[in-house]
Amino acid sequence: MATSAAEKTGFTTLAHPAPVPGETRAQLLANPGFGTLFTDHMVVIDWTEGEGWHNATIGPRQPISLDPAAAVLHYAQEIFEGMKAYRHPDGTTALFRPEANARRFNDSARRMAMPELPEELFLEAVRLLVETDGAWIPEMEGASLYLRPYMFASEAFLGVRPAKQYKFIVIASPAGNYFKSGAPAVSIWVSSDYTRAAPGGTGAAKCGGNYAASLVPQAEAIDRGHDQVVFLDAAERKWIEELGGMNLFFVFDDGTVLTPALTGTILPGITRHSLITLLREEGLNVEEGRYSLEQWREDATTGRLVECFACGTAAVVTAVGKVAGHDGEFTIGSGGPGQLTQKMKDRLTGIQRGLVPDTHGWVTKLG
Ligand SMILES: *Cc1c(COP(=O)(O)O)cnc(C)c1O
Repeated sequence: MATSAAEKTGFTTLAHPAPVPGETRAQLLANPGFGTLFTDHMVVIDWTEGEGWHNATIGPRQPISLDPAAAVLHYAQEIFEGMKAYRHPDGTTALFRPEANARRFNDSARRMAMPELPEELFLEAVRLLVETDGAWIPEMEGASLYLRPYMFASEAFLGVRPAKQYKFIVIASPAGNYFKSGAPAVSIWVSSDYTRAAPGGTGAAKCGGNYAASLVPQAEAIDRGHDQVVFLDAAERKWIEELGGMNLFFVFDDGTVLTPALTGTILPGITRHSLITLLREEGLNVEEGRYSLEQWREDATTGRLVECFACGTAAVVTAVGKVAGHDGEFTIGSGGPGQLTQKMKDRLTGIQRGLVPDTHGWVTKLG
């Protein structure tokens, strides 16, 4: 058998001079919020043309030094992943479908003209960080350790071409509930002035640039009193695509469930894929297709549409209660989380947290 990339690279451990004391950590973990608290360590791996991946280290989380001409700062050659580590009731640590993140990371890398990272090396980096900072996994309900693997062009060069030097980094952030309010159902704003992704663009790649472009419409949604923005397709401005960072599902009164098809402008969510599988096991007819804003409004009004939910790693499954746009607003079902939404949320989080048997081989135990 070939030596795995992780063995070939080998990780160097850099000692941490001053990890956060246990007592302070416990206080911080009592209310972690989302995305502001970080663990003690980080993984860094370098790539240069000719040499490939090298210098794999796990060491103290600290600022990185970049040349002011680093290509990422100018042309946004950057991709990332989002995944979670959970503490199971038996005390073990688990990841959910990490191979799917490793694979998607490389799909994104190819689209952004970046080098692929061997999947085994991606997984080893994530495992190593979770094992090292395992004490940072919060244990309260709904909490987890959010992991952020990412890669960017670090070469100092202002010409426009794929860089010849990259850094892959993994950091970890203890996370409570994603939506601050812990709202049972979110209200979303349909953007008619902005789109997220055009055919042939980077919509299916998990790249920072997509998010940069979504900030103005997202801010508009917040200004108007909503939680999230939902985007229409760029060509016809007619078909529902996804939220800024979550995929959508529509549940009808005849037991059919619809989710926008992966046409290249939608991010192929791992939560989305898992839910399609679980919904089909429930005996529901899940279709991947197109759904227009007009139809959405009509079906919500007539009651044909009974539930709608958004999904993604950060917020898992979130009911959509209200939809608003320039033509007014409409409510879905009772405006709160419907039965199927709640059931699928419980089922999926149950598998992730080790409370429901994993019959799909989705859970990777780290010991
Ligand atoms: C990450 C992401 C999702 C959700 O993907 P998951 O794998 O389920 O976390 C959906 N839409 C966008 C734009 C994303 O970046």
